[in-house]
Formats: sequence, C-alpha cells, structure tokens
Amino acid sequence: MVDLIADYHDNIKNVPVVPSVEPGYLKKLLPEEAPIHPQSWENICEELHDAIIPGIVKWDSPHFHAYFPTANSYASVMGGMLSDALGCVGFSWMSSPSCTELEMITMDWLAKSMDLPKVFLHSSDGNGGGVIQGSCSESTLIALLAAKHRKIEKIGKHSEEDIESKLVAYTSQQAHSSVEKGIRIVRAKMRILETDSNFRLRGETLRKAVEEDRAKGLIPFFIGGSFGTTSVCSFDDVDELGDIAQVEDLWMHVDGAYAGSALICPEYRYLMKGLEKADSFVVNCHKWLMVNFACSAFYVRDSMDLVKLFEVNPTYLKHAYQNEIPDFRHWQIPLGRRFRSLKLWMVLKSYGVSGLQENIRRQIQQAKIFESLLRDDDRFKVVNEVFMGLVCFQLKGGDSLNRELNKRVNEEKRIHMTPAEIDGKLVLRFVVASRLTEDEDIEFAWNEIKKHADLLLNNEGEVVCNGSSNYLKMI
Ligand code: PLP
Repeated sequence: MVDLIADYHDNIKNVPVVPSVEPGYLKKLLPEEAPIHPQSWENICEELHDAIIPGIVKWDSPHFHAYFPTANSYASVMGGMLSDALGCVGFSWMSSPSCTELEMITMDWLAKSMDLPKVFLHSSDGNGGGVIQGSCSESTLIALLAAKHRKIEKIGKHSEEDIESKLVAYTSQQAHSSVEKGIRIVRAKMRILETDSNFRLRGETLRKAVEEDRAKGLIPFFIGGSFGTTSVCSFDDVDELGDIAQVEDLWMHVDGAYAGSALICPEYRYLMKGLEKADSFVVNCHKWLMVNFACSAFYVRDSMDLVKLFEVNPTYLKHAYQNEIPDFRHWQIPLGRRFRSLKLWMVLKSYGVSGLQENIRRQIQQAKIFESLLRDDDRFKVVNEVFMGLVCFQLKGGDSLNRELNKRVNEEKRIHMTPAEIDGKLVLRFVVASRLTEDEDIEFAWNEIKKHADLLLNNEGEVVCNGSSNYLKMI
C-alpha cells in the first residue's frame, strides 16, 4: 500500500488531472453486495487499481488549478497513519492525555509561528486557545452557535424565542458559502454587505447596517469577516470591522481558511491588522500548510464561550482532572475526536517553519509568474490584486467566451480550473495548488489556456463558441 501511495505521487504529473468517468461508473464495476468472505489482498489491490483510483481527481497534481488547494505531504500521511494505528479517541484529557496535550502544544506552536495575537494561545493568561476542527465550515458554525448563545445569555430578560427572531448576522458578498450555511443553521437573519472596489468589507458599511437594524428593533450579534475570500482572495478590513464589533458587541469571526496560512511568512502579517479584536479565527492547515485533510485550526479568545454552550457531563465522561486542563469535547459538536495533531506535529517537525514558508513563498511567486504572462497578452485582463496563489482573470469578450474557454480547457483534462462570479461577471480562477508545482508547470498551464484562447479568438477577431452553435462577433 505504501508503494501504491508512492507510485501514485511519483506519476501524478503524467496522468489526466480529472478522470474520464460518468456518474454511476463505479456501481458498474463493483459487486452489488459486500463480500461474505474475506477477500485476498490481490483482489483488494486489483479493485483499487482498476476501479477506485481511476475515479480520482488529482488534487495534488501540479496541473490542478481549481478551487483552493488541499495540502498533502508524506509527513502528514505518516501522521495520519499513526493516528489510525493508535486508534485513540481523545474527547477528554483522560481519554488520551497525549492527544489533548499535543493538540494544545501544536496549536500554540502554530499560533506563535504565525505571530497570532497572544489571546489565542493556550499558554496565555486568559481562556484562549486553539482546537483542531474537521473543517472551516464547522469552525464557523461553532463560532455562530457560541455567538448566539452569548448574546442570548447577555440579554436574558426576554424569552429566548423573542430574541432568536431578532438576531442578525453580517457577512460580505465575497464571504464563503459556509458562512451563509452556518447562519441558516443557527436560524438568524442574514445581511450580506457590499464590499469596496477591492472586494473588501469596510467598517463603515458594517456600522451603517448595524445602525439600520437596531433602528428596526433587531439584535446584531455576529460579523463574519474574510481573510482571503474564495472568489478573489480579498481581505476584509478586520481592523475597522473589529472596532465596530467591539462597540456594538458583535462576535467577530475571521475566516482565513486558505490565506490564513500565509501569516507564517512575516511579510504578510500586515494583512492581519486588527485580528486581536476577533473572538475567533480559523485557518485550514489542510489547505496550505502541508497537512492533509482534515485539520482546521480554530482559535478562540475565550474558550468558556464554547464550554458554556457545549458542556454536558454524564458520569461516564467525568474524570478527576477535568478542571485542570481542557476537555476538547466541550469545544466541538461531536464527542469523539481523532488524534489529528499528530499530522500537524509531523509536518512542523519535518519541514520546520522555514519549510512551510518556503512552500508558500514559492507558490505565490509562481502565481505572480502566471499573472505576468497574462498581463503581457492584451487579450486578457487580470481581475484581482494578486497577493497569494490565486490569479483571477478574464479573456476580454464577455461571459460566454470565458465560460467556453474554461469548458474547453477542462474538457482536455491537461489542467483543471474552476470559475467564480464577481459582480455578476464570470471570472476564471487559476490557483497554484500543489507543493509539487514547478515553474515549468505554470508555463504548461499558460500554453494550454493560450492555445484554447487562440482557437476561440481567430485572427479576424471572430469568437467561435462550439457546442452551443453560438458564433459571437466581437465588435
Ligand atoms: N472559507 C473559505 C474562504 C474557503 O475558501 C473554503 C473552502 O475552500 C471554506 C471556507 C470551506 O472550508 P471547509 O471545506 O474546511 O469547510
């Protein structure tokens, strides 16, 4: 199996980045019932090789430029294997002391290496600290649940239903869909606020919205800021938002799912100005810090906000040390938890902070190479300010042209990209997503995109869109 994993990675660059399968393909290849009797190892490997692996999208390929990255490294794979092999469930300190303690230590290591505000450290004086959640979406949901609980506890004098119907949460039009999902789950009203011309949510916009809502008798309680949005990788003005949050008593949660990792490089820390005003911050180590899915580092200013909400203490879960050290079951929704910090520990030990910095800097540099290739071709337009590994661009000529370009590029399966919509317009997103990406892969991708653009835009300026029998004339 280890050989299979190594072969998979060694060859990843030479195989199509997206498989050629249709929905339901696997059902046709696997038996309808589970085997009654144990199968041979040869049979298992054959099925894996012939049926399952062919249906995998190669997220770790240097030709994968879609979504945001999912991190990978052998160090993390080893940590994951260890976690599975040790098989402990560390819901409380007592249920596996090293599971809790290694998580506290690695969360602090990471926070210190990013120079996060001290208030988020276990080793600080207060109740702050980090915990590993399964995803950024879960972290945001937990922040929302805790924010709602805190607000209801504070107001107190009305009935809970009365307050609930008036709660308002704010986020920006560029925020990730998980914020909207979380707000829906907590059944609050949602106000999606406009961003400025750089796709940033500003304090004044939030202040006005809160004022309007208070005038209507509503109860503002939460602001979800973004540190690197999915569509364009823009950064909300957390400093300004934090000021409003403090005055208006809103819980400020900052989603740094992807770009948060860049804080490990001192030169990007200017972007986090004001983060010390946040109640919670999340960064997905499984996006850009070489740790495999799932490892979402969720930091809170005051863990008691979570404990007050999640603590349930049946006799079978109590233990003698429970007031001396965190029991992470009170910081999350499920009871059981994997030994996820082993992956982070393995990665931090194996690469060191310098190795993680090097990976992020190289990928940002490669995104800048791609950006300059686009800027040298006046048929293209770069849409975002390229801070990180994401370049958003358009082929001049409108949405259907860009949709067709993305479609053709993806259909050939030599590279893979996913688009986004900004201000109602389609933009193509190019993400440097793999630790294996070399400069020549950027050139390869550019040549692919250019080839299809050349085919789409013939020399007379005619745009030919096949498939939809559209022949659009550019003016
Ligand atoms: N927030 C942002 C900014 C993201 O880009 C993503 C996913 O790409 C998420 C949240 C969701 O992350 P998760 O899959 O960990 O819930």
